[in-house]
Amino acid sequence: DTITIMDIDFVNTTQKELLQNHIAPRLEAEKKSFIVTANPEIVMQTREDPRYKKSVQSADYVTPDGVGVLMAAKYLKLPLKERIAGYDLMLDLLQYANEHKLSCYFLGAKEEVNEKAVAEVKKQFPAIHIAGRHHGYFDIDDETITSEIERSKADLVFVALGLPRQELWISRHIDKFSKGLFMGVGGSLDGLAG
Ligand code: UDP
Repeated sequence: DTITIMDIDFVNTTQKELLQNHIAPRLEAEKKSFIVTANPEIVMQTREDPRYKKSVQSADYVTPDGVGVLMAAKYLKLPLKERIAGYDLMLDLLQYANEHKLSCYFLGAKEEVNEKAVAEVKKQFPAIHIAGRHHGYFDIDDETITSEIERSKADLVFVALGLPRQELWISRHIDKFSKGLFMGVGGSLDGLAG
C-alpha cells in the first residue's frame, strides 16, 4: 500500500504496522531490506540528483518523514496515515532487536560519536549483539567495509553517512550482502551519542 508523490512511492502505514507487518517478518526470514525515511532534505535531493532519486526508488520502503509530504498527500486526496521519522523508527528497531536478541552494525558519524552511540546502545539495549561499528569517513567504494559488514552477519545495519552518501552507499552495495536491514539514519548516531 503506497502513495506516489514526486515519483517516490511512500508507504501508507503507521510505524507500528510497518514494524509488525513488514519489517519483523522480513527480519525473521533474513530477507534483505532497504529503508529510507524521507525527510524534506532527502525529498529535495531526489529532485536535484537523478542518481540519488534512483537510489531512493530502489528502496523497499520509503516512509514520509515530514509534514510537507503529508500535506501534499492530503492535497492530492490520497492522505498518508502517519509521519514515520528516522530517529523514531531507529529507536523502535533497536527495541525490536533488543527483544529478539538480534545483531546490529553501526556505520557512520565521526569516530568518537560512533563510539559513544554504540556505548549508549549497549547501555539502553543490553541484549543487542554489536556486530561491529565503523566511522563514516571512508571512500564510498571501499570494499573492506562492505566485506567486514558481510562477515559480521549483522541483522540490522544503521548507516549514518549524511546525504547523499548514505542511500548511495546502501544501493551500491546491497547486492553484496546475504542478509540485513539497511537504513540511512542521518544524524541519528549523533542523537544517540547525546
Ligand atoms: N557523515 C559521515 N560521513 C560523511 C558525511 C557525514 O559519517 O562523509 C555523518 C556525520 O558525521 C553525521 C551524519 O553523517 O553523523 C549526518 O551528517 P550531516 O548532519 O552532515 O548530514 P546530512 O544533513 O547531510 O544528512
